[in-house]
Amino acid sequence: MKPERVKKVKLKSVNNVIFIYFCLLSALLLLLVDLVFYVVVTNILEGQVSDRVVSAGADIAMQLKHSPYDEVDKALFDRYEKDGLHVFLFTTEGEIVETESIISQSDVNDLISRISSASENRVLYSDNGFMNFATRVNYGSNEGVLLVSYPLEVVHNTIGAMQLYLLAISAVVLVIAFIISYNFSQKLTRGLKTMSDKAVCLAHGDYSIDFADADYKEMAQLSDSLNFVRDEVKKSEDFRREILANVTHDLKTPLTMIKAYASMVKEISGDDPEKRDKHLQVIIDETDRLTGLVNDVLNVSKVNSNIGEINLKVFNLTEFLYSIINKFGYLQNSGYSLMIDIDGNLYTRADEEKIGQVIYNLLGNAVNYTGEDKTVYISLKSSLDGSRIRLSVRDTGKGISKEDLPNIWDRYYRSEENHVRPVKGTGLGLSIVKAILQKHSFDFGVDSEQGKGSCFWVDFPAVSSIPDEP
Ligand code: ADP
Repeated sequence: MKPERVKKVKLKSVNNVIFIYFCLLSALLLLLVDLVFYVVVTNILEGQVSDRVVSAGADIAMQLKHSPYDEVDKALFDRYEKDGLHVFLFTTEGEIVETESIISQSDVNDLISRISSASENRVLYSDNGFMNFATRVNYGSNEGVLLVSYPLEVVHNTIGAMQLYLLAISAVVLVIAFIISYNFSQKLTRGLKTMSDKAVCLAHGDYSIDFADADYKEMAQLSDSLNFVRDEVKKSEDFRREILANVTHDLKTPLTMIKAYASMVKEISGDDPEKRDKHLQVIIDETDRLTGLVNDVLNVSKVNSNIGEINLKVFNLTEFLYSIINKFGYLQNSGYSLMIDIDGNLYTRADEEKIGQVIYNLLGNAVNYTGEDKTVYISLKSSLDGSRIRLSVRDTGKGISKEDLPNIWDRYYRSEENHVRPVKGTGLGLSIVKAILQKHSFDFGVDSEQGKGSCFWVDFPAVSSIPDEP
């Protein structure tokens, strides 16, 4: 089953959006190219026609000027007519003197008015589909007006033909753009769709899914993020399974013991106070073990969720450490000794309750794993520059092997070796310590040598004794 969107907003498909925009852009670009082409080519061609009529006009005017006769040489006009130009010679009043072409009276009137109002004795203008150049001339002893015209139709035909070609090319380019944009959008969304399908499989618990195959950088980044999510989900799923298996296993033993000893009290030792006390003590110890286990599991989930937010405040670390050590006082009855070297009145800023859990766990472990001499060394010392306070908890036990060292901070990790355990342990203690100290960004670690013991340490920031304002 696919997840449904909660809010049913009508969303556009990436596919369509890319396709439409790409096509629009291509069409717009082609239109722009066509327009620029039209303007540029028209200007160039019209410029060439203008040059042609002007140079022909100047040429003819020059030859007329140097003619010794009043009669005009017809052959001169013919030469230009053959080149497609129309040449006219008028008197200054507008009467035709010489031409091979036809002109309407209204055009002649227009010409005469233009040349008489022209500032220089010449004028260039386009009219009725012709490019015209008119200039005053002298022929023999007479004065007149010369007009050279060229039909712009030729230019327009050329532009029209070119536009037709351009249109055909544009249509082909547009079709190619359609095909490319369609394929591209399909390819892009295919990748997204594959990822979405894989994400659904992941949601259904298939952790073998690999989001690796991506065609583009951004998609590859998305794949990496999804692979990361997959690994994290898998880790937490593994942890959920592992913790369930371990906790149920750990719950079984004390529960069996409690049941067995309760039955013994009921059936056998009820009347014998000595035996009964012994059996009841086992029940009490096992109940404590259960409580410890449940608390640790609760703490792990608290530390790993937002409920585990840290609540910083300034407190007296020296006094706080003493109060915890006092709770371990009962161990003296079993021959344990706690050797302390603690500087007075050291203050730090941290979450007091959570730091309590850290110290409790470290002390508990040291007691659990210390050697035959049953001694644990606790020190709290200010650094030379006074900026840090180091708490060290050292035992004289077997130490931790190099292979185990990196793993001891993992949830539910326990080294294979058996230890005498006067304080209950669940394999969760150090993972809680690690999570709390990481949340505080405090430095911590362990130095351990096999056969000599281990020393767990934490560096707290030292602060002045002035407590935080409420
Ligand atoms: P546990 O409840 O098993 O003590 P922890 O998370 O506190 O769980 O510790 C994890 C493991 O690290 C222990 O099982 C033990 O193997 C090792 N360990 C912790 N503290 C010490 C120590 N002081 N000396 C030797 N090994 C230790």
